Amino acid sequence: MSATVVEARSGRGGEDRPVVVIGAGPAGLAAAEHLLDAGVRVVVLDGAPQVGGLSRSVQLWGEPYDLGPHSFYSSSHPESVRRWLDLAGAAGGLERTVARRGAVWRGRAVAFPPGPRDVLRAVGPAGALALAASRSAARLPARRADAPPRTAHDALVARHGRAVVEELFVPYCRKYLGVGPQQLSAAFADKLLGTRAGFSGPVELLTPARGTGAVWEELARRLRERGARILLGTTVTGLDTEDGRISAVTARDAGGESTLPVRAVVSSVPPPLLLRWLPGAATSRTAPAPGAGGPALRSRDTYLVHLLVEGEVGQQAHYVTAYDESLRVGRLTNTRAWRPQRFAGAPRTVLCAEFWSSGEDDLAARSDSELAQLAVAELPAFGVDRGVRVVDCDVLRLPRSVPVLSLGHEAVLAGVDERLDAYPNLVRVGRHGRHDWDGQEDSLLTGRSIGAHVLALPA
Ligand SMILES: Cc1cc2nc3c(=O)[nH]c(=O)nc-3n(C[C@H](O)[C@H](O)[C@H](O)COP(=O)(O)OP(=O)(O)OC[C@H]3O[C@@H](n4cnc5c(N)ncnc54)[C@H](O)[C@@H]3O)c2cc1C
Repeated sequence: MSATVVEARSGRGGEDRPVVVIGAGPAGLAAAEHLLDAGVRVVVLDGAPQVGGLSRSVQLWGEPYDLGPHSFYSSSHPESVRRWLDLAGAAGGLERTVARRGAVWRGRAVAFPPGPRDVLRAVGPAGALALAASRSAARLPARRADAPPRTAHDALVARHGRAVVEELFVPYCRKYLGVGPQQLSAAFADKLLGTRAGFSGPVELLTPARGTGAVWEELARRLRERGARILLGTTVTGLDTEDGRISAVTARDAGGESTLPVRAVVSSVPPPLLLRWLPGAATSRTAPAPGAGGPALRSRDTYLVHLLVEGEVGQQAHYVTAYDESLRVGRLTNTRAWRPQRFAGAPRTVLCAEFWSSGEDDLAARSDSELAQLAVAELPAFGVDRGVRVVDCDVLRLPRSVPVLSLGHEAVLAGVDERLDAYPNLVRVGRHGRHDWDGQEDSLLTGRSIGAHVLALPA
């Protein structure tokens, strides 16, 4: 019998129907904790076999590894840091390192942010002068625009100067998000590396000794201890409505499909999915714009190629980002840098090469072994010693893992809000639920932002 059916039976008759949380990632788990604190019965459903969502760790070659660079900054929101440190402490402790970041810029591996010598190496004396002049001009009060910037491009130019934006941010946005910063909302600029508060000066990274996923496993353990049901391998496939409210959730697990009566739903999945599940809903994978042919809520895929390499690799940075469109790898993470104590003396190093894709481009069409070959071929461009011996590899595809804050997405989101907010017992949290470029610290906060009107709903 399906586990969800068991839950459904206990909820029959309308007594003590649970609040169902869709997704056991950081936001869903934080929401479940908040609901338990309010004395509400909670059932968390997740289609994946483990908790943690995109912040889970994967077991490779006998060790847990995060999905790409999973940094938690000691300069994050104090409430998030406090909660996260408490969980990480109980999950096996953590390692603290000062971030070393690198960039591939015009084919050269340099430090990031680049120092004067890096700039000279990348663009030569004339280019360096042009960049310095453009940066200085951006800082002149007379040049500051009165109107708030409309696009990410405007916001970045105001902060860094046009030449810096053309050199670094344009190729980065194209690779990462598939469009230039002219097509991205100004809100995105605030979230970009180097422009966000707390990124100037040394940045301390907090890395759980047993991987970031251990933090979320620990939170799940605590929630179960307090009575929450967390049903993994259970994918939500539909929502029922009655009198303008969500009345039930349909989910599929190994035992089949079943329907669970609910008091309310907290969702951490993309709004287009919710719209598809609701009556009169759109059928597309993206939420439609208010007018036909307008922008939609877009997301990008991430493909991770983990490479097991003999010895150390030469490149010491935590991660190196390619601001260079001639390379297909977007970012290379050296896992040894994140947990130097854990990997001290380890005979092999695990590197993680990250590709970003629309889901329909030539990267998506490549087989796993083709992606791995591409990653290996580009290692030297990232400063990895030539001739390193790659012993094994693993490829993991993360569809729709990066919400794109396109120009005009706020208007699309407002239309979606209007449709979904019509259901008073439906709440959206997290990176996908809110369609924002959120990290773990944001998930910890938005997961706990469920309004009192939902907490107080009768069972
Ligand atoms: C490559 C990469 C690097 C990142 N680096 C960082 C970083 O350095 N620092 C940082 O803080 N953050 C980073 N992030 C972002 C971080 O992983 C996310 O912000 C965080 O995991 C979001 O939590 P969430 O709960 O909102 O969503 P998710 O973690 O995506 O969780 C959503 C959950 O919903 C489940 N789900 C989806 N559909 C259904 C369905 N129909 N039924 C049931 N369950 C469903 C999924 O299985 C998933 O477990 C990175 C992300 C990626 C992809």
